[in-house]
Amino acid sequence: MALKFYNTLTKKKEEFKPLRDKEVGLYTCGPTVYDYAHIGNFRTYVFQDILKRYLEYKGYKVKHVMNITDVDDKTIKRSQEQGIPLKEYTEKYTKAFFEDMKTLNIESADVYPRATETIKEMVELVKKLLEKGLAYKSDDGIYYDISKFKDYGKLSGFKIEELKAGARVKKDEYSKENAYDFALWKFWKPEDGDVYWETEIGKGRPGWHIECSTMSMKYLGETFDIHTGGVDLIFPHHENEIAQSEGATGKPFVRYWLHAEHLLVNGKKMSKSLGNFYTLRDLLSKGYEPVAIRYVLLSTHYQQKLNFTFKSLEAAKNTVQRIFEFVDRVREAKGKDTDISDILQEAKNEFEEAMDDNLEISRALASMFEFIKKVNQLIDSGKIGDNNKKGILGLIQEFDKVLGILDMRKPEVDKDLIGKVSKIAEEYNLKSSNNFEKLMSSIIRFRESARAKKDYQTSDTIRTKLLEIGVELQDTDKGVKWKIKI
Ligand code: AMP
Ligand code: ZN
Repeated sequence: MALKFYNTLTKKKEEFKPLRDKEVGLYTCGPTVYDYAHIGNFRTYVFQDILKRYLEYKGYKVKHVMNITDVDDKTIKRSQEQGIPLKEYTEKYTKAFFEDMKTLNIESADVYPRATETIKEMVELVKKLLEKGLAYKSDDGIYYDISKFKDYGKLSGFKIEELKAGARVKKDEYSKENAYDFALWKFWKPEDGDVYWETEIGKGRPGWHIECSTMSMKYLGETFDIHTGGVDLIFPHHENEIAQSEGATGKPFVRYWLHAEHLLVNGKKMSKSLGNFYTLRDLLSKGYEPVAIRYVLLSTHYQQKLNFTFKSLEAAKNTVQRIFEFVDRVREAKGKDTDISDILQEAKNEFEEAMDDNLEISRALASMFEFIKKVNQLIDSGKIGDNNKKGILGLIQEFDKVLGILDMRKPEVDKDLIGKVSKIAEEYNLKSSNNFEKLMSSIIRFRESARAKKDYQTSDTIRTKLLEIGVELQDTDKGVKWKIKI
């Protein structure tokens, strides 16, 4: 079956055909770094992660760009209130954002361009729009004249006539002359303090929308495959991105627009005043595990509103536990193999058919649980031997390339494992301990010193011995880490 996505632009489910064979350009509107991101934001980022992982599962090479909005009204205001320079202020929340993304096992983008580092290119884009007569200078900024862009409204369905009637116009983003013309460049005003750039188009700073047009085209080209965000960005943000980009280049900007519906808490919009507003950090400090949070965020189809409740978080915890226990059970099975290739094939097909159909995650998960049920019965009747184990674990790991759950498992270190690791430590005359972390650190340190002395035989033997008892050593940019194998 062909891969299909619902495209907000055409309002249809469409077969996905990237511009270049087996390569996909993906842009995600990133965070405005004025505070910690909330679980609603992460709903949208987890959706984008599932999308990206599934494209990779299908064999596409994804070039993924996510911007960091590190200059806008909110960041300036907050940094001033706290008396911290803008850069220092936004750096703190950018760092926190990356940490949170890692906590939720969201794959990193290839590039995270910052708005403040892309000013030159934004100025070029604004100049182009001025040259083309699509933008005009006013006393407080440069604005886009939306009446000059004939396709304005094609994404969101908004009509200029309706816009004129008023509604959703935020004053500081729009022109005084024409309430629906939006700011491309805002001239400096005293409240901005030291936040400004001296440029050919005047002293000031960019509007929010121009940031995303510039950063996406800079890294992905004038036309690219997929652009994602939450539904609140369809209008005006994405509508304006189209007007800016297509207005300037005369070419189609984005081919597939995918939008995630909002997360609600107990059926209500999340808001600080209702006391139902949660950052990821709030949930972690209440003791919830990242893997359960990720599961809650991914398990509702992205075009449906996600109603977050603590009950659903508890349920997710149990579901994830069931998957982990299943994996253990398969590993420990000691039956005799019978042919289960049909069962494996059917499960794989069902999972892929569901995901191909506009990422129907609930159906994909249901097919995985059906598979788990069948395998459990086969284990009960002694039909799972070493060969079948490989097939089953292999398939679960394939599914997990998309779900990203298994490698979030907190290692369960039992006495048995501590005993095995202690034995290895003893063989090398290392200090014994009942603490697994300590034992592993001293083994890793010992192995590092062997490597430093070019004693690769010892370092390889240690790696192999650990692998035999289910502990894997991984070389990372932060040094050697251990991981308990599933
Ligand atoms: P922001 O940092 O406000 O620009 O938002 C970052 C991303 O989170 C955008 O794609 C928003 O559309 C998305 N977003 C904001 N609120 C929610 C919510 N309650 N549920 C899902 N996504 C949201
Ligand atoms: Zn954006």
